[in-house]
Amino acid sequence: MTQKILIIEDEEGIVHLLKLYLKDAGYNVVAASDGADGLALHAREHPDLVILDIMLPAIDGFEVCRRIRAWSKTPILMLTARGDEEDRIQGLDLGADDYLVKPFSPRELVSRVRAILRRVESSEAGETRSTSGTQSSADKSVLRFPGLTIDLPARRVEVNGVEVALTPTEFDLLALLAQSPERVFTREILMNKVWGYDYLGDGHTIDVHISALRKKIEANSEQRYIKTVWRVGYRFVEAGIGIDVSRAAGNGTADAGGTTVGSLLLWHRPA
Ligand code: CA
Repeated sequence: MTQKILIIEDEEGIVHLLKLYLKDAGYNVVAASDGADGLALHAREHPDLVILDIMLPAIDGFEVCRRIRAWSKTPILMLTARGDEEDRIQGLDLGADDYLVKPFSPRELVSRVRAILRRVESSEAGETRSTSGTQSSADKSVLRFPGLTIDLPARRVEVNGVEVALTPTEFDLLALLAQSPERVFTREILMNKVWGYDYLGDGHTIDVHISALRKKIEANSEQRYIKTVWRVGYRFVEAGIGIDVSRAAGNGTADAGGTTVGSLLLWHRPA
């Protein structure tokens, strides 16, 4: 079945170019030139993916993203202006799945669209991506930890018995980390595994998604499942209870670096 892409962008030149490349890649394309039309088209056309510009007349891209996320999990690829790091972080925080900085190459955009759709498709088919080298964990379809249940095929997460709504990216990150407890994942590896291609963006993207994920699965409880490995990346803590001393002390971003060397060795050790 042909997949449908919705472009919400007011620059005609960009829309024209994207239509050309996306149609050439086999996608059905619809376009809106402002946020209100974009939202209406999204509700009517049920696209498989939305390409969303931030700077739009009337309703800006952030608001469009917020409104789409209020009721839909449609993957969103945001387009931002060069250098607007705050914009990128805000977009990801609102639930965008990825972003591209203008000016971008249309080929790069098509490859990102493909990667995002492949990710969604494979998860809808009930597959769970292998975490390369840990075959045993791939067999488990429901992961259970104290206070946290992750149903991989159903893409359903419960915290203390209550379902929490995660974006596709947040779920993929959590699933990847939780399938290999205690294993340290660098930001680059998380990007490559979750996004499915060699990611050229900065590490902030991962940090923002992890921060949003933590807010959802660690809110209103003593549980701390995702531990920051200082200057390296993240790891999942199986016990999930109050181990993260530096975060308990109020520092939410960095941990003492004592385990860094051992964790790196662990990562590089052949399976
Ligand atoms: Ca614009």
